[in-house]
Amino acid sequence: MVYPFSIRSLPEELKPLQEIALDLRWTWSHAGDALWKSLAPEVWGRTKNPWLILQNLSQDRLSQLAKNAKFKAHLQELMEDRQCYMESQGWFRETHGDKALRGVAYFSMEFGVGEALPLYAGGLGVLAGDYLKTASDLGVPVVGVGLLFQEGYFRQILGSDGWQQESYPYNDPASLPLEPVLADGGRLHISLDLPGRTLLLRVWRAQVGKVPLYLLDSNDPLNTPTDRGITTILYGGGPERRLMQEVVLGIGGWRLLEALKLPIDVCHLNEGHAALVILERARNFKVRNGFNFHEALMATRAGNIFTTHTPVAAGFDRYSPALLSKYFSYIHRYLDELEITVEELLALGRKNPKDSNEPFNMAYLALRGCAMANGVSHLHGEVSRRMFTSLYPRWPLEEVPVGQITNGVHVPSWDSVWADQVWTEACGKGRWMGSLEAHGEAVKGISDQQLWSFQTDERKQFINAVRERLARQLGEQGSDPETLAEANRVLDPNALTLGFARRFTEYKRPTMLLHDPERLVRLLTHPERPVQLVVAGKAHPEDERGKEMVQAWVAFVQRPEVRQRAVFLQDYDISLAQELVQGVDLWINTPRRPWEACGTSGMKVLVNGGLNLSSLDGWWAEAYRPEVGWALGEGEDGDPECDGIEAERLYLLLEEKVVPAFYERNREGIPESWVSRIRTSMAHLAPSYSSNRMLRQYVEHLYLTAAAAYQKRSANGGKLAKELYQWQEELKRHWHEIHFGNLDIRRQPDEQNWMFELQVYLGEVSPQGVQVQLYAEPKKQGEPPVCQVMAPRKAISGAINGYLYQAVVPSKRPAADYTPRIIPYHPEAKIPGEMTSILWQR
Ligand SMILES: *Cc1c(COP(=O)(O)O)cnc(C)c1O
Repeated sequence: MVYPFSIRSLPEELKPLQEIALDLRWTWSHAGDALWKSLAPEVWGRTKNPWLILQNLSQDRLSQLAKNAKFKAHLQELMEDRQCYMESQGWFRETHGDKALRGVAYFSMEFGVGEALPLYAGGLGVLAGDYLKTASDLGVPVVGVGLLFQEGYFRQILGSDGWQQESYPYNDPASLPLEPVLADGGRLHISLDLPGRTLLLRVWRAQVGKVPLYLLDSNDPLNTPTDRGITTILYGGGPERRLMQEVVLGIGGWRLLEALKLPIDVCHLNEGHAALVILERARNFKVRNGFNFHEALMATRAGNIFTTHTPVAAGFDRYSPALLSKYFSYIHRYLDELEITVEELLALGRKNPKDSNEPFNMAYLALRGCAMANGVSHLHGEVSRRMFTSLYPRWPLEEVPVGQITNGVHVPSWDSVWADQVWTEACGKGRWMGSLEAHGEAVKGISDQQLWSFQTDERKQFINAVRERLARQLGEQGSDPETLAEANRVLDPNALTLGFARRFTEYKRPTMLLHDPERLVRLLTHPERPVQLVVAGKAHPEDERGKEMVQAWVAFVQRPEVRQRAVFLQDYDISLAQELVQGVDLWINTPRRPWEACGTSGMKVLVNGGLNLSSLDGWWAEAYRPEVGWALGEGEDGDPECDGIEAERLYLLLEEKVVPAFYERNREGIPESWVSRIRTSMAHLAPSYSSNRMLRQYVEHLYLTAAAAYQKRSANGGKLAKELYQWQEELKRHWHEIHFGNLDIRRQPDEQNWMFELQVYLGEVSPQGVQVQLYAEPKKQGEPPVCQVMAPRKAISGAINGYLYQAVVPSKRPAADYTPRIIPYHPEAKIPGEMTSILWQR
């Protein structure tokens, strides 16, 4: 595509520069770093944004470069590298090329691909960025869909009193690595009817390696001033603004895919913000096939997947029925197009569809509109099943249809140059592009010497970066020259370096280390075994308590006795996160269990040889073993009353375990037990908590199944979907007629088994439409329950549609453990998602 606002015409020989500068693969592949740095060391150092470098070059400089043979050869090399990457088959086509998955659309309110495209607030966005990069590496046919925010999320500036201030720099689309999407040579607009007006959305495309990321933006002069502001600030404004953003993302997003005629089988919702896409996808199917809305949803929901990231019910997006009605019925006309009533719509987002006061919950809509759903760690899967259990009344917890796939990080985005060298030597160049099985053994072969010396290189580099950042930060605050000079001497390249960075919000307990400041001072200033600490993190602009916690840290690091040993760096973002995770020896995380759905920052240190110390929440609850790091507590749920006790435990762990492990050295000066943890953590955890593993699980456990199911239901004009809808309606109408008769339990002559015989009367329900089962709770937690199918043996004489069902189960368990139940059944239906009725015999 031609960039219509071309900043200038590039000399013919340099045309490829534009293509390379617009491919965000430079956020993880460093092949081009030297070239960009040679062009503009200043801009490169400050922004790492090749697109900006290209824009800042003078015409004169460009003409010179066009004549520079060495430069052109370098450029040629880069083009070839890019071509080779773009044309590579990739894991997906090699492994699943024969499967019916044409395309996945990944919807997310935030995307954190890199600082050059700052459209994220925290972990959710960084995950979405890592996901796109991994899809590119593995060749999974994904497109991203999001919003282009004019101001993104805020930047944090610390006043000299340590109070957080916010600034919202303008994201100028022309200096972002984006291209406008055109139609017939003009701008493509996606239109949406809003109360009394039509909203026009512009479309931009960012290229993330092989994966396009489409971004919608309302800041078009054709819109009213208020509407232009819809995509101004991520998570900014009140509920109405927020709903508008979700309308644009979900409904606008699906219209965009239709306008581009992209073949999409799977629609993946990264959190509930995008749940309205469910309505629009179904509406499209409805119109195309002349279905009603519910029939259409029966087809499209098979291809929808919902990933929830929320560990507490209060975290779900909820809207008042009045607000939703305003947008969807009175003026919008959308409900007329769906041909459903506002009550039917609201029912999709309510626990109790009949409660007209209940707000509309986007997560409920997502769960009802997606055939598959997952939490983001094992623990969070469990927590989610508990949170959603009320949508499936009388179903056992383990059958609530929410699974889990633990998050992972895109390793090439987070590794240091030294880690890259060590890993390349052990596992080769393309090690994060395919299977990871061999990495563990290969890493075990790395010597103590090598593992330890790359830690030292990383720490040294990190400390230089911290000093630079600190000097800039203090300068901005107007510090005196003496203090500025001091910044160049903070931290010691040989001391144990702890990192602590996260959002400053209550449940993360960011000030736990400050519980007993004198004890922390003693740790930091120990004469033989000093510890040093780098802290960073933003508080939400409206979170006063969060800002107080930031201020408490700033006050602490200003104490003269620790100034050399503790630093608070402002404006935690992806580039600061990269420096931190590459440079620290130990990453500390103190969330209050089970509030951390997963957490990914600790995973980023793994590849770099950093170790973790964390409460047993999120991913660490499943990853921790004593050979890889340290656990705070024993996996009990966090109780605010006990924060003090946990802080004491944290100090004790640091004093008695962590510090000795780091400072006890062998004759070569190597801390053997520390290095052994590095090796095990790199060998086992780094591959397991990579997004490579994560995305392969999404493909193999969810996408392939979802794509096949969607294609099956939508084939032949949606014949199966229609049949399923009729099956569902029939069952709903007649379910209440089903009842039990006698139950007879006998011990079998072999003494090994129970024989259960049960009379069931089905009313008008066909025996094919249900399944009679014997259910027994799992014996141990984590095991699946017993669900033994009972077979209809014969009709009960004299009864209409009454049958005798039989099953034989081992008598190892008492007969009282087993309870007969009747559940809906259709070979193609998802139960209980698509029919939540259930009948227990007692
Ligand atoms: C990885 C990352 C996060 C996620 O951090 P958690 O504390 O694990 O939730 C947040 N912000 C940035 C900038 C990150 O790089």
